[in-house]
Amino acid sequence: MRNISQFTHGTYDLLIVGGGINGAAIAHMAARNGLKVALLEKNDFASGTSSKSTKLIHGGLRYLETFDLDLVRESLRERSFSLRDAPHLVKPLSFIVPVYRGDRKPLWMMRLGVWLYDRLAGKYTIGKHRFIPRDELLGLMPGLRNEGLLGGVSYYDAQMDDARLVLENILSAQAHGAHVANYVEVRSFLKKDGKAAGVLAFDTIGEREFEISARKVICAVGPWTNSLMHKEEGNVPPLVRTTKGIHVVCQGKLSDHALIIPTSQDKRVFFVIPWMGNSLIGTTDTDYTADPDRVAADQEDIDYLFRELRRVFPGGTFKKEKIITIFAGLRPLVHKQGEPAKISRNHVIKQAYSGIIYVIGGKYTTYRKIAEDCLKRIVRSKPLVDTRAGFPVYGSGEITESAQDVARQNGLNVDVAKYLMEFYGTRYIDVLRLIQNNPALKEPLCTCSPAIKAQVVYAIQTEMAVKGEDIIKRRLSLIYRPCRSGECVREIQRLMAQ
Ligand code: FAD
Repeated sequence: MRNISQFTHGTYDLLIVGGGINGAAIAHMAARNGLKVALLEKNDFASGTSSKSTKLIHGGLRYLETFDLDLVRESLRERSFSLRDAPHLVKPLSFIVPVYRGDRKPLWMMRLGVWLYDRLAGKYTIGKHRFIPRDELLGLMPGLRNEGLLGGVSYYDAQMDDARLVLENILSAQAHGAHVANYVEVRSFLKKDGKAAGVLAFDTIGEREFEISARKVICAVGPWTNSLMHKEEGNVPPLVRTTKGIHVVCQGKLSDHALIIPTSQDKRVFFVIPWMGNSLIGTTDTDYTADPDRVAADQEDIDYLFRELRRVFPGGTFKKEKIITIFAGLRPLVHKQGEPAKISRNHVIKQAYSGIIYVIGGKYTTYRKIAEDCLKRIVRSKPLVDTRAGFPVYGSGEITESAQDVARQNGLNVDVAKYLMEFYGTRYIDVLRLIQNNPALKEPLCTCSPAIKAQVVYAIQTEMAVKGEDIIKRRLSLIYRPCRSGECVREIQRLMAQ
């Protein structure tokens, strides 16, 4: 549960503003290095861009096109670290790229691309690329347009639960002694001799303002960087260029493979990805200059995705009536001119005149490297703990019990036991402990998912969920599953009221 009173004791070595993946990973790594750390998030953890991503831990096949080879190589290495460090949250996934006659990139180029991709991965490769003949491809992707189809290629990348990966970095930071809180907004910075020496914070739940002292302040606020920086540094050029990307989740899973499709209207690609039994489809990439708190998908974004879908699935495999949820996020790209899709996804760590460090750009995939680069700017007296050798998150570790044993010992259905073990990694034990104390908590939450009531109590007690939407969207990921009865929402409200 949130503890606000913890922040008023003494001076922190490091205070991090922003509880997205970058802030969470910096806090986690700093705490592992023995620093006295605080992290403040104005909304819920991961409520910004970090729960609105395509949910891929990937090198990014399309960055080969812009010859961003160092970024691809670095991302592929980080991908293998994430697969090792968060095996319950990051899983290998095979991708298929269909190629049609007249496509911008012919088949030979795609074959070369996936070959190069695996070469760049080197020892970090997770599966071999291959050519897929036309007929096999049509069997793997039901409903795909066959007219003009020449065949395709497949290769491997990884898929993650973005909101939970943030959360597990936050919980790991806390387990290593960091003080963290959601729903605390940083309103301004405290100064000593012209340099930042802490923040003025506002607890939006308790409606109370308080000061926190810190020797160093890091802003990992992604799309909010320009507005926070302007408050502090005056009228300086913007650091971040925000571009909007939307996704829709449609009912039904097309295949166990993800599909990448080059768009016809611009030089981009979009994905159709299996996600929690349904299909995650996205994304767009358009400049956005309004308030980041108000970003939302508009009709034009949705029409764009469905126009592209209809081109490759002419038989109506995906229909707007089957949309379960739509979400929009902002890429906090390093500020540059040019087409949004062509701007590099590299990160930059910048120290301003005030001494505040700003984290700009980057990909979710490179979160460990971003945290490391950031901390290298701060910890100069000793080497950092080598997180390339291991940067495990909260639920990482070996599970020795079988789902059958867990089910038998706790009176659970085997599928529920399996689901809990995959969802929480080694921390499924903490959820089971709640059941042992109160057997009523093993009841299902609703018919729309395998979730049980104990998970709601766990989300409140351990995972710092404050509002119903924290649980529905970011703790239990219920928004990605269609629910007719709405019983899960009502049950969460009942349990929260208790
Ligand atoms: P955020 O997650 O936005 O976190 C910043 C946080 O700061 C927010 O939670 C916000 O509430 C908080 N904050 C702001 N102001 C304050 C304040 N004053 N006080 C306290 N807190 C504050 N990358 C990949 O590697 N793989 C992908 O598949 C992928 N897909 C993407 C798809 C889309 C559509 C988009 C938009 C991005 C995608 N990315 C992907 C990029 C990746 O998601 C981002 O780089 C990453 O999530 C940025 O994290 P962050 O922590 O910097 O920002």
